[in-house]
Amino acid sequence: MKTLLEKYNLTLTEEKIEKFNKYYDILIKYNQMFNITAITEREEVYEKHFIDSILGVDKIDGKTLIDIGSGGGFPAIPLKIEKEDLSVTLVEATGKKCEFLKAVVKELNLNNVTVINGRAEDLAKDEKYRENFDVCTARAVARMNTLSEYCMPFVKVGGYFVAFKGDGIEETKEAENAIKILGGKIEEIKEYTLNDAKRTLISVKKIKNTDKKYPRGNGKERKNPL
Ligand code: SAH
Repeated sequence: MKTLLEKYNLTLTEEKIEKFNKYYDILIKYNQMFNITAITEREEVYEKHFIDSILGVDKIDGKTLIDIGSGGGFPAIPLKIEKEDLSVTLVEATGKKCEFLKAVVKELNLNNVTVINGRAEDLAKDEKYRENFDVCTARAVARMNTLSEYCMPFVKVGGYFVAFKGDGIEETKEAENAIKILGGKIEEIKEYTLNDAKRTLISVKKIKNTDKKYPRGNGKERKNPL
């Protein structure tokens, strides 16, 4: 991992590197049964999953984070390893992936991490979660317009929705209307490359409460995006 860290100008303590090593072992162990990731080669997992996630760390401003469609835990678990004082909620629709996420949390001894097996559209209606987080993250879950409707309802006014994307410029343009309707304002689009692949981090600031009618549910976010 050290060469990779140098390549991206990152530093991590030995203890954190050890956590990533353990995370990799658990991922490979469960992947045979649960199909969590298509990438399994060590260097590739470290770069495309772990480093890709922590490269967004300086966009994470606050103490409470909710991650939508966590899958194998990206970006939220690497962010939690890097930023230990974060309180993290992982939302994942697939039960088996949640089992994996719970195993990671237990084996890495991560505190203040909650795994929820459910859909964002349903959870966002629950007062316990709605507008209750400083930051909402998501990587590789849906197009920006659909994703904004999943994520924005969770963010407190003054907080941020941070989307981890490949080439996200076009999608962000397409989502401008949705973001506005949901009470957001695009604050920053940061582009960079990860092993020659284009990556985009889109930070949306929540400037107004989200109208209670969003998310609309019944798949409307996907079939008929705002
Ligand atoms: N964020 C991970 C996984 C991406 S795959 C990564 O970057 O590697 C997308 C995941 O989102 C899948 O595991 C899927 O089950 C989950 N998902 C899709 N729509 C969702 C929704 N509306 N609510 C919760 N989880 C969802």
